[in-house]
Amino acid sequence: MGNAKAGWTADFIEPLRVPPGTKVRLAEDFDPGWSGDLRAKKDGQDLLARGVALMADCQQRLAAQETHGVVVVLQGIDAAGKDGMVRHVMSGMNPQGVGVSAFKVPSAEELRHDYLWRYAQRLPARGQIAIFNRSHYEEVLVVRVHPENLDRQRLPGDARRPGIWRRRYQEINNWERHLDRNGFRVVKLFLNLSKEEQRQRFLQRIERRDKNWKFSAADVSEREYWDDYQRAFSRMLSHTSTPWAPWYVIPADHKWFARISAAAVIAHTLTGIGSRYPEPDAQEQQRLQAARAGLEAEAPR
Ligand code: AMP
Ligand code: MG
Repeated sequence: MGNAKAGWTADFIEPLRVPPGTKVRLAEDFDPGWSGDLRAKKDGQDLLARGVALMADCQQRLAAQETHGVVVVLQGIDAAGKDGMVRHVMSGMNPQGVGVSAFKVPSAEELRHDYLWRYAQRLPARGQIAIFNRSHYEEVLVVRVHPENLDRQRLPGDARRPGIWRRRYQEINNWERHLDRNGFRVVKLFLNLSKEEQRQRFLQRIERRDKNWKFSAADVSEREYWDDYQRAFSRMLSHTSTPWAPWYVIPADHKWFARISAAAVIAHTLTGIGSRYPEPDAQEQQRLQAARAGLEAEAPR
């Protein structure tokens, strides 16, 4: 079974997990450049392959059993590597069982609903994995850093009163607990990038023709809010890492290490679900045997 093979993932992800109830100060508690015992990309190739294979195997069982679903939340500042993460980590999965949603500035239609509505629309069905490239956590990140976003949400007076962020943490935690209790695991990956590495990546996006399309002038003006974002990240991690949906802080300065880490967390969650292929019951067995007899009788001489 998957679990014996999955042993390494538990040890690997332990230092990345935010223990529920702890107060996180991102800058002091997590190093964006960390890569454990691994020195270079080549040291990690084997682990990445194992993680991806494990995910693929578990995904098949998940799809066959159709009792559980998984939401993978990807958060991180601009250039943290969210898009690349979607491409690389998901490379081993069967596309039929995976959906990706990228959340942008909310539309007029979305703003006419409660703030969790648009995320709820993109939840997975049982047997499926949904990847959220940005997520409901933007509602306590960009919306907090730029309160004019909140003005656009047309909240009634008492929903805007002080304490709104604490209430949102609570509402998000409750929503995720509801999902977890009903068979939907929420896997939360925070890609932790350093300010210097962001600078380097922006420069690359400007210098390389094939990366120009990824750059927007807004990225640089957003960078001026770096400290506000770091504060909002720390608060989010402190208040919304729960026993049912803990946060994992993925060191993101080395893309290769970030990818192994993400694969390990996702594989660990999937093996934890322990999906099995459904066992045919006696009647089913009989039908299978009858079908076999019929097919064998058709064999060419
Ligand atoms: P990107 O992920 O780089 O394509 O950019 C998407 C943009 O949408 C980012 O600048 C986010 O800050 C913004 N965004 C995502 N969700 C929200 C939200 N709930 N409210 C306001 N802006 C958002
Ligand atoms: Mg961007």
